[in-house]
Amino acid sequence: DPSASSSQNEQDSRHYARAAKLPMLEPSDSQEAKDLVIEAFELSERFDTPVLVRLTTRLCHSKTLVQLAEPALDRTEATGFIRDFDKYVLLPRQAILRHAAIENRLVALAEHAESSSWNRIEWRDRERGVITSGVAYEYVREVFPGASVLKLTQTFPLPADKIREFASGVHELLVIEELDPFLEEQVRALGIKVASQGWLPKVGELNPERIAHSVAQRSPQPMHTGDLGVPGRAPRICAGCQYLGVFTAISRIGVRVAGDIGCYTLGALEPWNAIDSVVCMGAGIGTALGMEKALGDRVRGRLLAIIGDSTLLHSGLAPLLDLVYNQGQSTVLVMDNSTTAMTGLQGNPGNGRTATGAQGPGVNIEKLIEAIGIEWIRVINPYDLAESEAVLREALEYPGPAVVISRAPCLLLKQKEPVQQAHLQEEACTGCGECFKVGCVAIEQQRLHGLIAPLINHDLCIGCTLCVQACPEGALAPRKLIPDLVELDACLPLPISR
Ligand code: SF4
Ligand code: SF4
Repeated sequence: DPSASSSQNEQDSRHYARAAKLPMLEPSDSQEAKDLVIEAFELSERFDTPVLVRLTTRLCHSKTLVQLAEPALDRTEATGFIRDFDKYVLLPRQAILRHAAIENRLVALAEHAESSSWNRIEWRDRERGVITSGVAYEYVREVFPGASVLKLTQTFPLPADKIREFASGVHELLVIEELDPFLEEQVRALGIKVASQGWLPKVGELNPERIAHSVAQRSPQPMHTGDLGVPGRAPRICAGCQYLGVFTAISRIGVRVAGDIGCYTLGALEPWNAIDSVVCMGAGIGTALGMEKALGDRVRGRLLAIIGDSTLLHSGLAPLLDLVYNQGQSTVLVMDNSTTAMTGLQGNPGNGRTATGAQGPGVNIEKLIEAIGIEWIRVINPYDLAESEAVLREALEYPGPAVVISRAPCLLLKQKEPVQQAHLQEEACTGCGECFKVGCVAIEQQRLHGLIAPLINHDLCIGCTLCVQACPEGALAPRKLIPDLVELDACLPLPISR
């Protein structure tokens, strides 16, 4: 993910291929992204190896025409499991044998790369030659349309002879790639002079302008972080989401919070400022335990770890067990919205929906947590602000590990028309700003009698009543949209029963 568009770090994943000694293929457009999957399966069968097909952000976020082919009909029937002790039982002696097999496989794969049509030389003007791969190939063709190009598609292991042939056929050799000088270092290790050494930026994704500027200046152009001509727009939590209530409660209590990966990571932003650290999936609980062990009484009773239901089941159970085993006292808040919302509502063991769409029994999170050894477990309705705050305070005071489960379905699971919405009674508003602290995108601002007052955007408001509860003056009230048919109490999202 060059430029870390949606990642917690920016790293060059090509190093994994070298570390694992696996072949790697890098497509430059949508057609290649499809075709290289077939190539990867063929390489896998022929060389008995896993194969990495590496996609980067810009390739995934672009579309090009794709010509489809008929699926192969002569699919080999699965042969069943064939026992192969030396391959599948990796005792130390077998591990040594497998290492030798991997080294031999790499030599064979490098030979294959020499003759593979996927690694191709495009001879044009020989004054300048560019070695490139992946989406950078498209940029190179745009910036240097007359230059000769060695387009590498198998970027590990590399075809050394083909690289030598290309380098000896051009006057000036550039290597243009995103992030680390992964190809450049291997080319230089062959004893080949690379003119562009140190010219390309190591941070942020490339684009034609950055390449043109960096090559012209012979120094990396920094990432463009200034005015791009469009207004900036921070990601926001959906209007009426359960997280609004929980983060409002947390910001009122004032605790140190170790966060995790999900929509709820946005709790780190204004107006809640309710998350102090986010590292990677499943790290929140371990981070809280580490802080507790390192800081002792200075944070005791004031440490909260936040994790979503799908993240908990993905990578949060081992640290939760660690919290119990190492006698931690942190409170864990499980944000249970019954789905994996941030990445597109995928199924997970919590909701029981499999990747094929089949519905199985979901895991009972309370029983699972209890089995791990947590004795203090409470489930809250996050749309009840007072309850959320009171239960969280109680959990934080508990002299042992405690788990609070905030449970309400993601609003995207069953989108429906609201039956009530918040309305402002202007004469009662004092402009205190408490309603803005809920952080709902449906609450806009207006100037009213010299005060900053809320302006409810009724295109967005779903009538969750969190802002109504937050207003100390009773200036916000729910108003039924279908007055004679719906009882107000029936409008609050119901807790999920398991
Ligand atoms: S009731 Fe208030 S907090 Fe809830 S969606 Fe409407 S404006 Fe937002
Ligand atoms: S919380 Fe109530 S009184 Fe305060 S600004 Fe909002 S609507 Fe007005």
